[in-house]
Amino acid sequence: MIQISDLTFDYTGHRALNQLNLQVERGSVTALVGANGAGKTTLMRCIAGLETPLAGSITVVGLDVQEQPRTVHRQMGYLSDFFGLYQELTVAQCLEYAAASQGLAKDAIADAISATAARLSLSDRLEQKASSLSRGLRQRVAIGQAIIHAPQVLLLDEPASGLDPEARNELAILFRQLQASGMTLLVSSHILAELEAYSSHMLVLRDGKILEHRALHQGLASKALQLRLASPN
Ligand code: ATP
Repeated sequence: MIQISDLTFDYTGHRALNQLNLQVERGSVTALVGANGAGKTTLMRCIAGLETPLAGSITVVGLDVQEQPRTVHRQMGYLSDFFGLYQELTVAQCLEYAAASQGLAKDAIADAISATAARLSLSDRLEQKASSLSRGLRQRVAIGQAIIHAPQVLLLDEPASGLDPEARNELAILFRQLQASGMTLLVSSHILAELEAYSSHMLVLRDGKILEHRALHQGLASKALQLRLASPN
């Protein structure tokens, strides 16, 4: 689903990603783990097409991110590690803004908002202002903005940062639901334990290189989910 070859990225005077190679399987939830400064955000931003690599290639759903950015963007959602919503907008307006930014047709926006709100258990919050929501609910709205266009791939940079244990559990359940619906997720954190609960694969990043990439042993619930995904029916 995501294929990266020899990806190198430099900030002025600093090599953040160094000939990185990586494959993310369709339907997986891949945990991207690494210490502060390992290169997680830079890698996410390169995949999202927000940074231009010095060298190497990135394809998502078989399309080159640099060559076909608009087409790739339609297949991808990105939640940045910068936590922010327009506080004065209602949940519906936040979702509407994201839908319009993603280029959804005007007559499709209302349906997209109600489908996304239902998916995220936000249907009864649509008229509430973002400023009145708990941090966990605001993060849910931000995820709603990232998936309003029903992307195949969702990139989440430190989504659980600053959330309490209950909100983190709710996010874990949501990520499994998104995986079960066929979405491929790449989720970063510097805390492995946080990601183990719902990830099918783990990538360890250090100094801009992949140190380890392996399948994780998951609990019965997520195995059942994977079987359902693999089933032709
Ligand atoms: P964190 O968990 O702290 O967010 P990270 O794994 O996401 O870290 P990056 O933010 O991708 O790591 O940073 C990778 C390296 O690039 C670090 O050494 C960082 O200091 C450096 N870096 C990041 N952004 C810039 C920038 N705008 N200019 C220069 N160097 C940068």
